Amino acid sequence: MNVFQHLTSLEFGEVHFARDAATGLRAIVAIHDTRLGPSLGGCRFITYPHEELALVDALRLARGMTYKAAISNIPHGGGKSVILKPAGKFDREALFKAFGRFVDGLHGRYITAEDSGTSVPDMETIRSVTPHVTGVKAENGGSGDPSPFTAFGVRRGLEAAVQLSMGRKSLDGVHVTVQGVGHVGYYLCKELAQLGAKLTVTDVDQARMDRVKNEFGATLVGNEDIFAVDADVFAPCALGAVLDDATIPQLKVKAIAGAANNQLAEPRHGEALLARGIFYAPDYAINAGGLYNVAAEHELSRTRAAYDPEKVRERVSKIYDTIYEIGERAKKTNETTAKIADRIVEERLAKASK
Ligand code: NAD
Repeated sequence: MNVFQHLTSLEFGEVHFARDAATGLRAIVAIHDTRLGPSLGGCRFITYPHEELALVDALRLARGMTYKAAISNIPHGGGKSVILKPAGKFDREALFKAFGRFVDGLHGRYITAEDSGTSVPDMETIRSVTPHVTGVKAENGGSGDPSPFTAFGVRRGLEAAVQLSMGRKSLDGVHVTVQGVGHVGYYLCKELAQLGAKLTVTDVDQARMDRVKNEFGATLVGNEDIFAVDADVFAPCALGAVLDDATIPQLKVKAIAGAANNQLAEPRHGEALLARGIFYAPDYAINAGGLYNVAAEHELSRTRAAYDPEKVRERVSKIYDTIYEIGERAKKTNETTAKIADRIVEERLAKASK
């Protein structure tokens, strides 16, 4: 495997590896860019069939965090870590302590957080050996579940998308389809219902669908039927790569605004949406609410001020402006919103390196 080739193609940065014989720890911290501030991003704890996949995952995710922070004007760089899940029995606490010491040795260049396979107790374990961690318990200054903030940010981005694509300021009567009503999708439905939007949703989990039907009067459709619903906005909140050759031709909406990461199967699908006149709110810009939340937690842990969810909501609310600015620029140049978002990030990074 050619590590430096990977680093070059993703414009890295630095990568740190740690192995701890006593606990079986094998971990990677990928720091993509720190021009805008110390890198911040979650720690993934899953099984990888090959070490190379773990490295590539860390690199891609870290780069994504640079873009998410930069587009949102959050003063952080992009970082991400992975711990390769040991095959046999292991002592979880000892493993996460060893990981915490690894993070501590980077002296704040990387700040960790929860991600797939990690939870608040793991962050507490890490906190016992390093201050460079977020997502700890509320009584220790933690900010709790990020999903309501992510959902609020998606709502604000969706409002901007409706303004840009339909010329409407209010969501009253706007018909939104939501794919996936899990953590973020549920709270998004709540936000939208409060503003008078009409909801059509789908999920592979019937109980989750029933909940939004009972609480918010949502109409339920099958998993494959969500794309062709005659609605105003589609909000993907389940999986990545949902916008592809098969789904885009089915869409009848004017805008796409949802929480899922990596919604475009390939960059050319951004072009396909533009050709169909469908506004696309770039995923990493619209789903940054959770990042605002952990960044605020980190900032407050340093100043010892109390965590204030209302202040975080004020910041997350700016996702409206982010999406609006991207949309306005894209209209002027007739380019895809995905390209414009990337360009804004690259401009901000270039300015920071001067
Ligand atoms: P979640 O697992 O709680 O919810 C996802 C939901 O999608 C589940 O209810 C699941 O049953 C459903 N689902 C899965 N496959 C489906 C399919 N084929 N059709 C319909 N429904 C399906 O996850 P979440 O935390 O709500 O995150 C949703 C998306 O948003 C993910 O892509 C995640 O990466 C992204 N995201 C989440 C956050 C956050 O704060 N949680 C932040 C940024 C991005």
